[in-house]
Order: sequence, then structure tokens, then C-alpha cells
Amino acid sequence: MTEPLLTVRNLSVRYPARGARPATQAVDDISFEIAAGETLALVGGSGCGKSTVARAVLRLLEPDAGRIVFAGVDIGTLAPAPLRALRRRMQIVLQDPFTALTPWMTVGALVAEPLEIHQIAVGAAADRAAHVLLAEVGLSADTARRKPHELSGGQRQRVAIARALASGPDFLVLDEVASALDLTVQDQILTLLERLQRDRGLTCLFITHNLALVQRMATRVATRVAVMERGRLVETVSAVEFFLGPAHPYSRELLDAVPSYPQPIIP
Ligand code: ADP
Ligand code: MG
Repeated sequence: MTEPLLTVRNLSVRYPARGARPATQAVDDISFEIAAGETLALVGGSGCGKSTVARAVLRLLEPDAGRIVFAGVDIGTLAPAPLRALRRRMQIVLQDPFTALTPWMTVGALVAEPLEIHQIAVGAAADRAAHVLLAEVGLSADTARRKPHELSGGQRQRVAIARALASGPDFLVLDEVASALDLTVQDQILTLLERLQRDRGLTCLFITHNLALVQRMATRVATRVAVMERGRLVETVSAVEFFLGPAHPYSRELLDAVPSYPQPIIP
């Protein structure tokens, strides 16, 4: 087997007590890996630690224990400069792009910004590259002149995805990216992600509490499912195994909570 693109070993994150809030062991000794080109769906109820895993994987927070190895590099040992260089290759898209998109900037400027930050293109060249990225995520050229509040939720999420793609990443963390959208818009975003994965050969950590989304995604891209419960991984299995009959009782519980969906035809 080829080396995984991402390896997470014995990761633990504990948030210290603050005021009346007790300390929380948000992530408790979890390990998983993602092969290049693969999607791992990280699922579990609200508050089980999914977003904390996302932040630790991108080293947006320091874990208390564990190793994150990306493309053969232990990111916990990297100095700021090489870490910045590696960050071009790992990007995150969050649930609520409204808070992530600076409201007074135009869409064109928002997508050009990471190009300039990563010194990929500046000025008019960055604007042209931003237009190409907008087209890639299915937004028309006139969207570039608009502000985030003039867009629909689905369009804003496309802008957030275009921004994430700007640095040319090979790994994307998608944290509840479709969870707040209507069903049809969710499907449009899933279709977009499927195309991006195919065209760009992206590797994804797809985080959601919504198993129906994972079920629909698993019919499109090769997916494994990792189930998290109160900071721990309870099982990691192929989507086929997961939806045809999960071994773990907690997975059963999660699946039973999914509103009835047409059964997917899993390839
Ligand atoms: P999920 O994304 O699965 O909903 P999170 O990773 O956001 O879960 O949170 C896991 C646990 O850690 C929760 O109990 C949450 O309240 C707590 N938590 C998350 N972020 C912080 C923080 N910055 N400070 C303290 N506790 C936090
Ligand atoms: Mg979360």
C-alpha cells in the first residue's frame, strides 16, 4: 500500500477549565489515516470533537498528544515558515461561510486574497485567476463584483470553496459544509465536491453530524466512515460496510436517527 497522505496517531486535545466551564477532553487518543484521493467521512453527534480534530489536523491548535503526519512530514515539528508553505496544501472550509467571508469585500477580492497571501498571483493576474476559480466552482463572472450578503447560502459556500482552492491544495477539510443548506443545494455542493475531487485528485476529510449527507456522498466518491463518540473513534469502516450493517451499537444509533432516505446504490 502507498503511504497515506494524512496519518493521525494517538491525537488528544483537552480544553482547560475556564470560569464556570469545566475542562473538556474533546479528543481522546484517536488514530486514522487518509489515502491520497480518498474521502474520509468523520461523523458523530454535535460536540463529540469533530471540529477539534479538524483544527488539530491543520495545526490550528496544539494537541496535548499525538502526531499528525501530512505527505510524510510531521507537522508538529515544523517551524513557522515550512508550516506556512505546507498550509498551501491543506485547506479548510467551514459550515457558515457568512462569518468566514469579510462582508465589505467583493467576491472577486475575497477569492483573489489567498492568491496574494500565498504569493501565487498579484493585482490583475490575481483577479484573472480568481475568475477562473469562480468558474470552476460554478459561479458566473458577474458574481465577482457582488458582496457576500447578495448571494444565496449555496453561492457563499461556493465562494468559500473557491478561496480554499486558491492555494492549490491537495487536501481539504470540509467541516459541515453542506449541513446548513437545503436538500437540493446540498446535492449541488456534493456534485461540485465530487467533480473537484475527480478533476483535482483531492483528498478530503468530510466532517458532518448528518449521516444522510454521507450516505448520498458515498454513492459518488470512494468513502470510508469514521464514527466519533465523546472524543473517541468507535469504528472506521468503508461506507458500504457502514450503511449495510454497522457493527458498532453507536453507529446503529446514529443511523436510526437519519430520516428515511432512498437507499443509495453503493458502487
Ligand atoms: P463537534 O465539532 O463535534 O460539534 P467540537 O470539536 O466543536 O465538537 O467540540 C468538542 C467539545 O469541546 C465540546 O464539548 C465543546 O463544547 C468543547 N469545545 C470546543 N471548542 C472549545 C474551546 N475553544 N474551548 C473550550 N471547549 C471547547
Ligand atoms: Mg463542529
